[in-house]
Amino acid sequence: MFIVTRDESKCDACGECVESCPAGILVMEDGKVKITDETACEGCETCISVCPTGAITIEER
Ligand code: SF4
Ligand code: SF4
Repeated sequence: MFIVTRDESKCDACGECVESCPAGILVMEDGKVKITDETACEGCETCISVCPTGAITIEER
């Protein structure tokens, strides 16, 4: 299982990760990225590669 987390202090809300997630678990809500179901992450790391600020971390458990 992969757990996705986002560091609020690093995120500039560019929305790149929201557009790129194939699982659709990253959504923009009130100008902030919300992770709807962090356990549904497929571990593809696309969000990490598109994030310009390094705000996203994926952990395998
Ligand atoms: S690793 Fe892939 S599935 Fe998981 S949140 Fe990032 S883009 Fe979505
Ligand atoms: S790609 Fe990175 S900086 Fe942009 S909204 Fe997502 S987490 Fe925030």
